[in-house]
Amino acid sequence: MSQIRTRIAPSPTGDPHVGTAYIALFNMAFARQLGGKFILRIEDTDRTRSTTESEQTILDALRWLGLDWDEGPDVGGEYGPYRQSERGDIYTNYAMELVEKGHAFYAFETPEELDQMRVEQREQGLPQKYDGRALLLSEEEIQANLKAGKPYVIRMKVPDEGTCVVKDKLRGDIEIAWSQVDMQVLLKADGMPTYHLANVVDDHLMKITHVIRGEEWINSAPKHMLLYQYFGWEMPELCHMPLLRNPDKSKLSKRKNPTSILYYQRMGYLAEAVVNYLGRMGWSMPDEREKFSLQEMIEHFDIQRVSLGGPVFDVEKLSWLNGLWLREELTSEQFAEKYVEWGLNANYLMPIIPLIHSRVETFSDVADVAGFFLQGMLNPEESDFVDIKMEPEILRKALQFSLWRLEALRVWEKDAIFSELKSLAQQMDIKPKDFFAPLFVAISGSTASVSVFDSMAILGPDISRARIRQAVDVVGGPSKKEMKRWEKEFAVLAN
Ligand code: GLU
Repeated sequence: MSQIRTRIAPSPTGDPHVGTAYIALFNMAFARQLGGKFILRIEDTDRTRSTTESEQTILDALRWLGLDWDEGPDVGGEYGPYRQSERGDIYTNYAMELVEKGHAFYAFETPEELDQMRVEQREQGLPQKYDGRALLLSEEEIQANLKAGKPYVIRMKVPDEGTCVVKDKLRGDIEIAWSQVDMQVLLKADGMPTYHLANVVDDHLMKITHVIRGEEWINSAPKHMLLYQYFGWEMPELCHMPLLRNPDKSKLSKRKNPTSILYYQRMGYLAEAVVNYLGRMGWSMPDEREKFSLQEMIEHFDIQRVSLGGPVFDVEKLSWLNGLWLREELTSEQFAEKYVEWGLNANYLMPIIPLIHSRVETFSDVADVAGFFLQGMLNPEESDFVDIKMEPEILRKALQFSLWRLEALRVWEKDAIFSELKSLAQQMDIKPKDFFAPLFVAISGSTASVSVFDSMAILGPDISRARIRQAVDVVGGPSKKEMKRWEKEFAVLAN
């Protein structure tokens, strides 16, 4: 067999997600165990949502965890470029090849026409998918539309009957009726490929032999299978991993659990322990031991040991495991070294110093003023909020609305945080000074601390949001009954 090649293909549209690290880990362990290569490819064809900052934090986070790739946008490789936005006309050419072979077609419907189509389908109780109307166009009509410069997309043809059988390394044969598969857009009106086209083309050109990814992609597999067939390419083996879950078994989501790797880094977990914990998600060592290193995982890796029951990502268990690592794997010297690396390094301290410089008389005052930068959750009590001049009802709402605003905030910088919250205060008709007071308590533990906006910027979005979320819980978030009303009020404010 040719050399094993696996890949992780993140879309740089947000924080580095623990799910990405989890899938990266399994791809890496699989490839390395078999002497193969592990590749990192950036899938940034969604130009409105992709950002270079997000890409950088994903690379940094995976590297922090020790999940190194053999080929990728930053290290190069034989099959680059490894960033889809840099791959030029490759996808257009392949889309055109499918049109010429009769496997794909031009479609000229406007977004309004497609909306209308869906409305009608809904009214008639039909499944909502593209109805194939552009397939009825004659060659002359197509040419006339193209000549007139009408915007178009390219869609793939899909059989209207029969069943598609997807072979999955863990799940065996998965049957999906073709009638459930949409005539997927391959090339968008802006000329960019969709995920499906770019993903298949790149997996082929990058000689990927095994696609190990989350189970949320199972429904895409029939489209991909068809594309491989249309192109006449051999399809990589598929393996859909079980999704990570919250302790209540729902899909891991940041509303219930911090999902960003940066959160775990800032909270002071060891990278080794996080990787170890991710390795326990649906997988176990042959001897079932709980604590193992990445190297040990690679050595003993066997994908058939993955069990499909939804693995629960439980922060308390992770903390327990991290404690084991700290106690059993670090000498006092190493502990000191790692601690300095985590929180007392110049990079982390530099932005904090100007905030506290004029507030202390001795170094021994620093812990008092800036200790909250080295803490995780502050566990405030209700009494911490009593001195705040705000009706309890307004206070609860101010914190919850702030949290919602900050959850949606994309640029995590001091000025952006400040203007977001200031405008919220104005919209809620609360004096900024009063409005910010509970946030000071949530973020730093006291109304008399250094700037809460600088602090949030330094602590990062995850810790900041988690602390505000905890404060919301302490003062009492919306009851089920209030939730709808609050959401409505919040939506009105935003406009
Ligand atoms: N870009 C996709 C993602 O964001 C990749 C999915 C796949 O592995 O095929 O997860």
